[in-house]
Parts: sequence; structure tokens; C-alpha cells
Amino acid sequence: MESAEYERRIAARFASFDQDGNGYIDREDFSSAAKALLAEFGVTARCDKGQALYIGAEAFWQGMAGIADVDGDQRVTREEFVTGAVKRLRDSPQRFAEIARPFLRAVVAVADGDGQGVTVADASRVLRVLGVAPDVVPVAAAALDPAGTGRIPSEEQLLAAFASYFTTPAPDA
Ligand code: CA
Ligand code: CA
Repeated sequence: MESAEYERRIAARFASFDQDGNGYIDREDFSSAAKALLAEFGVTARCDKGQALYIGAEAFWQGMAGIADVDGDQRVTREEFVTGAVKRLRDSPQRFAEIARPFLRAVVAVADGDGQGVTVADASRVLRVLGVAPDVVPVAAAALDPAGTGRIPSEEQLLAAFASYFTTPAPDA
């Protein structure tokens, strides 16, 4: 893949992390995402699932900052994200999946209302709340359910899909 194309695609991912669109990623973006997800699924912040989501979001932020916050000002600029993420992902493609695991696990618990696994419809709600473009949501949700069972498969498959969102080319980018 062309390096410029790869960096452009990573830069597009920046927008989905920068939840409030103020030009940098910080702890606030992750806690806002957690808050929005809890509101969407009617889960309180005080319950176990709510607490796990905030803890997972904080861990995700810390992992992100560890990878990309080069100057240590607790803000990841677009340049830091593109430079840091691209470099680290080339070194270790599984890195994002690993730092995201506690957050994704908590999101699954919040979105899985009946304990039978997250439905594709609920996964679409998650993607929409996280700021994925409306035209991309159905495509991304369908990609999470390759067998067409109507439910999202295991955590490992979810993590793999998440990692590939960052590391493989996609027509939506
Ligand atoms: Ca922001
Ligand atoms: Ca910084």
C-alpha cells in the first residue's frame, strides 16, 4: 500500500476518535463516548457495566496516549495520531486491538441486552453513537457478521475486525 494512502486512511480514523471534533484526542473524547453509549442503551454509569465501560475507556485512552502522545501534553493531535499510529501499527498490528480489549468487552456487555450476544442492529447503534458515518454503518455492521447469523461473533473476532479497521484498506476510507 502507498504510504500516503495509508496515512490518509489513518487520518480518517482520527475523526472517529475525536468525538467532540476540537482537533485533538484526549481523555474527554473517550469519556464522552462512554457516556453516549450508556445513554443510548439506557445503562447507568454507577452499575457494574457502566463502571466497566468507563474503566475500559480510560484504559483505551491511556494506551492511545502511550502510543501516540509524543510530547506528553495529554492530547493526541492529528499529526501525533497519524505519525504515532502508523509507525506503531507497522511495528505491531495487534497493538490497537490489545489496548482496546477492555473497552470493547465493556461495550459488548452494555449492548448485549439479552445476554445472547450483540445483535447486528445493536452493533449498528454502537457504531452510530461512536460517530461512524451513517452510510458506513450498515457496511461495517454487516462485516462484523460474516456468517449472516444476525449476531456479532466472539470477542476475538470483534477484536480482529477492529484491528483490521485500522490496518487494512477499506472502500469507505
Ligand atoms: Ca477531541
Ligand atoms: Ca500531544
